[in-house]
Amino acid sequence: MICVLSGGTGTPKLIQGLKEILDSEELSIIVNTVENNYFSGVYVSGDIDVVMYTLADMINEEFWYGIRGDTFITNEFLEEIGCPEPLRIGDRDRATKIEKTIRLSEGYTLSEIVDIQKNKLNIKSKIIPMSDVDSDIKIVTDMGDLDFHDFLIDKGCEPKVLDVVYSKVPPSDQLISTIEESDMVIIGPSNPITSIMPILSIEGVKDALKKKYVVAVSPIVGKSPVSGPAGQFMNALGYEVSAVGIAKMYKDFVNCLIIDNQDKYLEDEIKTILDDVKITNTMMKSLEIKKDLAKFITDLNK
Ligand code: GDP
Repeated sequence: MICVLSGGTGTPKLIQGLKEILDSEELSIIVNTVENNYFSGVYVSGDIDVVMYTLADMINEEFWYGIRGDTFITNEFLEEIGCPEPLRIGDRDRATKIEKTIRLSEGYTLSEIVDIQKNKLNIKSKIIPMSDVDSDIKIVTDMGDLDFHDFLIDKGCEPKVLDVVYSKVPPSDQLISTIEESDMVIIGPSNPITSIMPILSIEGVKDALKKKYVVAVSPIVGKSPVSGPAGQFMNALGYEVSAVGIAKMYKDFVNCLIIDNQDKYLEDEIKTILDDVKITNTMMKSLEIKKDLAKFITDLNK
């Protein structure tokens, strides 16, 4: 069994490759929940939904958000009646979120709801929310403390980031046992500060990882992330924005870091930080590249 730690953009691309080369039952995805929140009256677990839609071949790959080909009738009518949404939610995507909201109010845990939804979509892989308790994430900026979505969407990542803080939450029931039962753990190329660190900061996760063969893929290629605000967050927390910064962040529990071909010159430096570094194309621009990267990673454990 292979277990993957995921956010909602970079790692799902790798999941597309992994699902082509592995039996679905062989794959378990542990997903960040730190950004979960209510919008327009519905519970939005963005990263979980992206992973679920990716595994069901429904993801909108243009935005790495929502369902491919979705309609926006509700969203547009809300706008028309003077109630614009802070997040543009598609109609079918909204249905998924409404179901989560209803079931949460009925007392189901997020893990139970995700299990029900992924089974209906015929997904055989496990999808495990890192926690069933919501955390509170704050981006501390020169314009004050901002909620993650305010920073990302309202403020367009403009403010200078000074710190990123989130509350500590307990692990979901299956989090630690899933890591323990896996033959290999992959830390996908996701935002290290807002997607991966929240998972790693949960009690028991780092200790469980130290007993496993763990491979991480750097989300930083060259001197910047492939997309999104990871660079600003790494800077604020004192890490250089490069694969070296990623190596320093993950060094205590990662056996091998995969870096992109264009960062080959960092190989020797990274070898002084952690056990092993491997170099390949990590820019997942096509399904073929995603599959090649997935095979490259899984072959490391043979
Ligand atoms: P979020 O939940 O939407 O923030 O998404 P993630 O945390 O899963 O992913 C964001 C990270 O994915 C960014 O830091 C990007 O640099 C990284 N990323 C996106 N596409 C790629 C890719 O093709 N290759 C690599 N190496 N990283 C990628």
